[in-house]
Parts: sequence; structure tokens; C-alpha cells
Amino acid sequence: MENKQKLSETLQMKKQNIFDVSDDDKKRKIFDFAEGYKCFLDEAKTERLAVITAISAAKEYGYTEYIPGEKLVPGDRKYYNNRGKSLFVFKVGSENLAENGMRILAAHIDSPRLDLKQVPLYEESGMAFFKTHYYGGIKKYQWTTIPLSLHGVIIKKDGTEVTVRIGDKEGDPVFYINDLLPHLSQEQYQKPLGTAITGESLNILIGGMPLKEDEGDGSVKLNVLKILNDTYGITEEDFISAELTCVPAFNARDIGFDRALIGAYGHDDRVCAYPLLRAIFESDTPHTVLGILADKEEIGSLGNTGMQSMILLDLIHGISESLGYSPMAVRAASKCLSADVNAAFDPNFKDVYEARNSAMISCGTTMSKYTGARGKSGTSDASAEFVGYVRRIFDKCGVRWQTSELGRVDLGGGGTVAMYIANLNIDTVDLGVPVISMHAPYEVVSKADIYSTYEAFRAFVEC
Ligand code: MN
Ligand code: MN
Repeated sequence: MENKQKLSETLQMKKQNIFDVSDDDKKRKIFDFAEGYKCFLDEAKTERLAVITAISAAKEYGYTEYIPGEKLVPGDRKYYNNRGKSLFVFKVGSENLAENGMRILAAHIDSPRLDLKQVPLYEESGMAFFKTHYYGGIKKYQWTTIPLSLHGVIIKKDGTEVTVRIGDKEGDPVFYINDLLPHLSQEQYQKPLGTAITGESLNILIGGMPLKEDEGDGSVKLNVLKILNDTYGITEEDFISAELTCVPAFNARDIGFDRALIGAYGHDDRVCAYPLLRAIFESDTPHTVLGILADKEEIGSLGNTGMQSMILLDLIHGISESLGYSPMAVRAASKCLSADVNAAFDPNFKDVYEARNSAMISCGTTMSKYTGARGKSGTSDASAEFVGYVRRIFDKCGVRWQTSELGRVDLGGGGTVAMYIANLNIDTVDLGVPVISMHAPYEVVSKADIYSTYEAFRAFVEC
């Protein structure tokens, strides 16, 4: 028996709950870190707000704006704001960049949400609504009957920009999507969950009062337009050149009697973006470190603010050439953690997971060697050599982590930005926080896993 136990301890792998193996000091660090994260979440509800929040934090750490083509020297701390929707922060190290490459951390700051159409405003049966087109993978029925806030920018006819942010502050009105009362839902109940609420029915309730002394048709819409004109100086045509988006109007809150978990909108992927920024800002390292906060991940990483854009390649070239290194050599020697969330094993839905290869809540940041679906289609699949390298670093720095893939084989799948970075000849693997109810208006993560992710990022940029 003794021999069996000894062999089991030395030979077998086992996951451990981080709270279970942490002393009081560690637990305090975990909980303190979570407080900062919750503040970040409440500020950074859209990619634009995340960029603004991240830049102001970067400035506090002495980062200044990078001008393409500028001469860099070791010690420089820079940020590059790509159109207000994606952000790069980097720190120039002292070591040879061609030999050691960059340490890159890449998270995304866009989250599933409801975007307004270009002609959104209409009135029906005494109520005014906005038409929407959803952004990213959502379960549509989850977005009805919850408070929503409205964010974004409007470029007016004369080119001036108006910023909209309404529904977050105490006392602000919020917005809403109707659902059918149970009393009249017999037919709706018969429909599959995925079609009971359609994309075209996700109309946002924004008003219910006609213009004064006018109860004719269209008067509720006109009243809303008048309020918008008084508040923002816009007309209906200005929606054409606007990016307005509705997100859940919930703030981040602790979940559970023990406060071990956090519920919030947009953990995916700000729960990696926040530790990424903290790790880069707080690290002391001879390496050159690059942090990426990408846009458009939820809709395929396309466009000039997504990870498929040439901007990453351009930046690496700009930095390399300014310091006198071959960009090709720098990329070949660089290493990247694609920092994105994964599905946490959920005992309420265990059939869709394969427990041995699932991320368990509070057992640490989780590495996915590959993502994709149907025979690993659509993944960069990190090499054993690179996974081995990351593993040695985590072990050396005492990072608690686990590995996982997203769900059972052939049941679904997902992608991240990893493949687009790997395509540039950069070793890349996915690592991030396990999430319960991913892409729901209110998602859940463990404070222990957020802190573990932060420790993993620090180990990666410092070792
Ligand atoms: Mn994600
Ligand atoms: Mn996602």
C-alpha cells in the first residue's frame, strides 16, 4: 500500500484547487487582484472603452505614444493606439532581440453584444425601438428582459464626433428587449431553444411617450429623435455613420457566500486583458515585451483592428528595424501566449465535456495546445517543444495551471487569435481563464484563476 501511494504521488498528475493550497497571504493577493479587475470591467464595457482605460493606466506607468518610424532605445515604454479599438503596449528590453525575440501576450477586448443597424429607429404600437444586428456568438434568448446600456460614437454630418454612454451610471435609464409572457408562450415553448428568439426580433425598447399634444402615428419616434437632438445634436441620418452598441447594464459582482467567483459581462476576454496589462506594467525584465489588446476576435479577427490585420507585422518590423535587428530573425525567435478564455467544466452540463481534458474551476489558468473543431480544423496547434518551454517556465516560477480543450470531440469548438500570430512564424499557445456560461450576458470566473493567469503572464515575460 505504501509503495502504491508513493508511486501515485510521484507518477500521477492531479489538479488542485488553488484556494485549497493557498495560505492566507496568497488568498489576500488573489482577492485584492480581483478588486482591481472588477473596477476595470465596470469601466471597459466595449473595446473602445477598454482602449481608453488601458491607455490611462499605461500613462501612469510612464508609457508614451509610439509614432511609427520613431527611433527606439532599450528602456522605452510605448503604446500604439490603433483607431481607438485595439491597443499595443510594449517595453524595449536590453537583450539581443534577434537572438531572444519578443515575449508577446495577446488578448482581445471585444465581447459579444448587440450592435445597432444603420437605420435603427422605428415606432410600432406606441413604442419606439432600435433594430440590432448581434455581434459574436450569442444565445439570443439570454439577451431578452435584462437591462442594457448603450455605448459608442456618432460621426455627425459635419464630421464632429459624439460619444454616447448611457445606462451605466446610477440613475441613468436603461434599455430592454421584450419577451413573451408564459401565459401566451405555448407555441414558443415548442420551438427549439436556438430559434425561439430570432436575431431579427432582438429589438431594443427605447421609448414610449408621444410628442407633447400629439398622439398621431410616428410621434413616439419623433419624440425620441427630439430628445436625441437636444442631448447629442444628432438627426436620424447621423445613425448611418455611427457605431452604437448595447451591452448588459450589470456591473461586476462577487458571486457566492464565500465570494470566490465574479459575475460580469465581458469576462471573455477582458479577464485576460487585465492580467496582461498588469503583468507587463509591473514586470522587471531584460526581454522586449509586447502586449496586444485586439478587436474583432468574436467575429473572425478580420479588418484593420483585428488580429488578421498587417498591423502586428508592421509593428514588429518597426521595432526591430529601429533597434537594428532583422525583423525575420526577431519573429522567428519570438514567443507568444494567446491569452483567451476557455470553457470551465460545468457539472450542470457534464455531457458536453470530456472531464479529463476540461478546465476545472479554481484549478488555475488553462493552456490549450490546440483549439478548432472537427479533427482540429482551424487551429495552429502549438508544438510539444513550445509547450515544454512554457511548462518549464511555469514550474520554475511556481505557477499553478492546467490544460484543457473546449468540450467533447465533434460537439462544437472554437477559435482564438493564436493561429494568426503563429502564422507570422511565432511560437504561440493559448492560455487563459476558464469561464462558466461563456458569451452569456453575465459570465462567471474564479478569482483564483484570474490571479493564476496573472502569475503565468508574469512568469512568461520575466523568465
Ligand atoms: Mn475569447
Ligand atoms: Mn468569445
